Amino acid sequence: MTESLQIAQLGNPILRQQAQSVDNLSDQKLQQLIDKLMTTVVSESGVGIAAPQVSQSYRLFIVASRPNLRYPHAPVMEPTAMLNPRIIAHSTEMVKDWEGCLSIPGIRGLVPRYRSVEVEYTDQEGQLQRQELTDFVARIFQHEYDHLDGIVFLDRVESTQEIITEQEYLKRIG
Ligand code: ZN
Repeated sequence: MTESLQIAQLGNPILRQQAQSVDNLSDQKLQQLIDKLMTTVVSESGVGIAAPQVSQSYRLFIVASRPNLRYPHAPVMEPTAMLNPRIIAHSTEMVKDWEGCLSIPGIRGLVPRYRSVEVEYTDQEGQLQRQELTDFVARIFQHEYDHLDGIVFLDRVESTQEIITEQEYLKRIG
């Protein structure tokens, strides 16, 4: 069984770095990193995790939406590794919703994101994929994408009054 990785917490400079592109997909270490990220996102009840969050500054993240203790209403999808992701196009419409982050435990913030994004990425097998993502999954993508550029969700919250504790958040969503 693959072990979980330790999560870098807010304040760790790795979370503020620009991550570098992944270029050698056949690298055994890279495939191991993907597997460990998959294990870690599930064990930590996340819906996404980016490589910089485990102190690996590469343009790679996992999107793994499914209902769990931290996100009881998340839609179900196959966990997907996205390498060198890009946003090709996006809706003009933005929506605000609550986000959290494994690197910022216990805190939620209301974050505006594009409702839909057209994205491109290389998958774990090295195939280029193009997809249109909407709503919650589009939100996860944009959150994880920000991690690759050293941005965390708190940077995008419009008012400090829209930052609450996880305990209060769970009360609100019922
Ligand atoms: Zn995060």
